[in-house]
Amino acid sequence: MLVVSPRVVTCDARLATHANPLGAIDDGAVSVRDGRIHAVGRASELRERFADEPVVRAPGVLTPGLVDAHTHAPWVGSRAGEYALRLAGAGYEAIAAAGGGIVASMRSVRAATRDVIAEELAARLGRMASLGVTTVEAKSGYGLDLASERKQLEAIAACGVRADLPRLVPTYLALHALPREANGDRAAYAAEVARTSVPAIAAAGLARFVDAYVDRNAFSCEDARPVFERAGELGLGVRVHAGQFADVGAAELASSQGARSADHLEHLGERGAEAMARAGVSAVLLPVASFTLQQAPPPIALLRSAGVKIVVASDANPGTAPTESLPLALALAVRSYGLTVAEAILGATREAAACLDLGEETGTIREGLAADLVLWDLADENAIVQPWGASRVRATLRGGAVIAGAMP
Ligand SMILES: [Zn+2]
Repeated sequence: MLVVSPRVVTCDARLATHANPLGAIDDGAVSVRDGRIHAVGRASELRERFADEPVVRAPGVLTPGLVDAHTHAPWVGSRAGEYALRLAGAGYEAIAAAGGGIVASMRSVRAATRDVIAEELAARLGRMASLGVTTVEAKSGYGLDLASERKQLEAIAACGVRADLPRLVPTYLALHALPREANGDRAAYAAEVARTSVPAIAAAGLARFVDAYVDRNAFSCEDARPVFERAGELGLGVRVHAGQFADVGAAELASSQGARSADHLEHLGERGAEAMARAGVSAVLLPVASFTLQQAPPPIALLRSAGVKIVVASDANPGTAPTESLPLALALAVRSYGLTVAEAILGATREAAACLDLGEETGTIREGLAADLVLWDLADENAIVQPWGASRVRATLRGGAVIAGAMP
């Protein structure tokens, strides 16, 4: 088929100029064959070249399918009560100390079967697709013991084989919080995770990345290093929750471990940013969490001047980012963090795909890639970050097939 649109936002770096950073083509068209992008260009030219292809007229802007590079999507249960505590003045760390936070989600996940987790995840992914998302990084991290982490990752795998949902990238969040049975010994817990859990998950083929939460009152760089080293030895990529509450050197650790991303970064110094730029570590920014916790933004000017690639993700989780909406994260990235519209959109398409090692598969409207496309009911890309609170997606296509909405 030939999809024609008044504005095709390719996100292709080869077409980008200073005045047109997203490589947009006015009166453009995309030829789709066998689920892949066959050609991209001006509608007039492609209509001539592919005169026999059925034409679909997209009424609004066409973008790549959105890529959500940081989610905790396989959760079950609600933490709405905790939100009320937060509004009454309790901080993140006080809520965690009172048995709320990650440990509350742990109890729900441990009590649920794999099938229930998969069912709730599938429903959530369907709602994400209706917001234009075609690829989702999904972390475990609410099991906090090997069997329960494996159960979460198996739920991700069960959804991962379905072509009617967004593509999934599974991450084993090896160090998230300390379960009670660890008796307060973070170093011993982390050493055991590195020794037994990381190899078991790798051997089962259940994760592409290993992640750890390195922060004040979370795990230290020393705790996390053996986990990352073991992941690297076993051929898994590394991602790091870094600098959400304090700069404890997590960005430097991520850089020394060849991580694909350091995520959060509300607290980041010059040395950390420079190390990330040198090592090619992307900054995954999570503005919904900053909004919920009423935190100041990450140092955007520092990230830009250091030349760090910027990604924006939803952080979908039941506590600090109770949303499934990547477009909401983009709106907050522009309004609260001061990203340009182009930075935000690239951070949810090309740059997000690149930091998940999927740059040759999705994230850009370019010949040869999967036909992951969003037909918006909006005139141009600026509108994607501006009318909040309702989906303005006409149709979401993964591999050329509609997974949400309907073709015009
Ligand atoms: Zn997170």
